[in-house]
Amino acid sequence: MFLEPHFKGQRSGWIEVICGSMFSGKTEELIRRLKRAKIANQKVEIFKPGIDTRYDDKKVVSHDANSILSVPVDHSSRLLKLTDGVGVVGIDEAQFFDEQLPEVCQQLALRGIRVIVAGLDMDYRGQPFGPMPNLLAVAEYITKVHAICQHCGNLATHSYRLSEDESTVVLGEQDRYEARCRTCYHMGNILNLQVREEKET
Ligand code: ZN
Repeated sequence: MFLEPHFKGQRSGWIEVICGSMFSGKTEELIRRLKRAKIANQKVEIFKPGIDTRYDDKKVVSHDANSILSVPVDHSSRLLKLTDGVGVVGIDEAQFFDEQLPEVCQQLALRGIRVIVAGLDMDYRGQPFGPMPNLLAVAEYITKVHAICQHCGNLATHSYRLSEDESTVVLGEQDRYEARCRTCYHMGNILNLQVREEKET
């Protein structure tokens, strides 16, 4: 489990990233850290991209409904204006933010803010997702959380897409994706390819 660093002298800012596949508990871990900061009377603000409106406009919502209020923003640069006097900034669904997010997080950290970012590290194609790889490069602390493979029970690192829709952003994730380990993800892709080839011939 992630434990916050101890400080000697003046507190400085830093970046934490929580990443993993779907159903890995990223948002739950983000909420756990933010709630602890709130209990310590630190001023906390939570942001999410304006695009993610699956459940509720004003909340960071994890799938078990253990949620806290958040502000939807359309561009990461808005965070620089909305964080005056804030000690801890949480960012959920970071993969959907623009490419400027890593730079914005670094500026916030330089102002002495603790920045905690949660997001999918890979999309359903197994490719690094949006600004996440650059965030991982500049973060002080990285936590990779795992789901359980829905086929074999091993640790799952991949989000396997069941639907036919080609767009990377498919909302309403619960019924369209499965958490899979590397092997089961790979086997699923091979089977899909065979089915597609059979259809075409
Ligand atoms: Zn598996």
